[in-house]
Amino acid sequence: MTVVGLDDTDSREGMCSTYVAARVAERLRERGAAVDRQLLVRLNPAVEHKTRGNAALAVHTDADPDLALSVASEAVTEFAEVDTANTNPGVVVADHPPAATPREVVEWACEAVRDHHDREDALELVDAMGYGHAGWGNARGTVGALAAVGAWAAFEEWTYELISYRERDRWGTPREVDRDSVFAAAETAYPEAWDTVDSETGDAVCVPNTPGPVLYGIRGDDPGAVRGVSDAVESEPADGRALFVTNQGTDAHLRNAHLAEVRDGQAYRIDGVVAEAPAFRKGGGGHVRFTLRDGDATLPCVAFEPTKRFRDHVRRLRVGDRITACGEVADGTLKLEKFAVRSLVGTERVVPTCPGCGRSMESAGRGQGYRCRDCGTATAGKAEQPVARDLEPGWYEVPPGARRHVAKPLVRGGFDAPVHPER
Ligand code: ZN
Repeated sequence: MTVVGLDDTDSREGMCSTYVAARVAERLRERGAAVDRQLLVRLNPAVEHKTRGNAALAVHTDADPDLALSVASEAVTEFAEVDTANTNPGVVVADHPPAATPREVVEWACEAVRDHHDREDALELVDAMGYGHAGWGNARGTVGALAAVGAWAAFEEWTYELISYRERDRWGTPREVDRDSVFAAAETAYPEAWDTVDSETGDAVCVPNTPGPVLYGIRGDDPGAVRGVSDAVESEPADGRALFVTNQGTDAHLRNAHLAEVRDGQAYRIDGVVAEAPAFRKGGGGHVRFTLRDGDATLPCVAFEPTKRFRDHVRRLRVGDRITACGEVADGTLKLEKFAVRSLVGTERVVPTCPGCGRSMESAGRGQGYRCRDCGTATAGKAEQPVARDLEPGWYEVPPGARRHVAKPLVRGGFDAPVHPER
């Protein structure tokens, strides 16, 4: 068995690395090789220099490793935008079955999803393993290509994406996809296929807006379900489609940590208490910010404007609520992808009401309690009254259109509290 890893073959100009991998698989088949599986691995979304979507690809095949390297190199040269300064592809070819990947490469893959790697270290490990490899530009893609080689053995949870591609002369033109057929198919296949549409905004989330070769991509837990949706979508003619096994929708990027331990460039699940109430700031671009606290440590959190209605849930948090927040930390701020309400504050302290006349009492001075000017009644401090909450315990998430590729939709299950899925 041979594993071909590819990375950094896409670019801002619209080329998509899944397309390059699909071409590699197609050409290996044309040369008589069997292709068992194509893997789409989303690496740490927080990594600097990331390619669009930060995807690395692997092709599992019985092709001879030398043939695999030459076919992959040829496809990268032909389809990847290797002349673009920001595109630095790498190809790594391993001559062993995917499940028999050496421990060092498995660890490399785990770290590539949650942490950072250097190109130099990648090249060193590739040489130590005796893998074939090729690089273009500064060959930064070697990092992800090696991670793609190790991914199958590194992770247990996988989902599927069936991607249909456009005919080449249509690239860059508006996509012709019948919206109603997408919504009908999405409804039928939910929740085995997810993030196909956003039913509140009416967006067909599966159809990209970028100029590249993807017509649409259907994601789900089951290959049959994504095929069913793909078959039912009415659109311009597709130039083939490819099924990818992927870590999309698995939360593979999140690590559990205490609030005091967080650092930039990683993504976390963090418990804390709301220390500063959520607020839109003037000139804040529609982002909602609040502060989370655990002991003496605090962490600013933000729900960005594109997370849309998710911000309404965030805004309902109050000081004292206990939550678990999930997201990437950058510039010392956690960018919320989802959160779980663990406990809600049920009362609030208010200025007391006079028992005699029913009017608001007034402060009698700092630390002097409150009194009624008219009746002369006095009380030692603020009163507690129940507060109505329009949040419930459990998980809340961003809508499908704002979801990071690797983030797990609540509808997939396996969460430790009730869920409030967006669809
Ligand atoms: Zn009174």
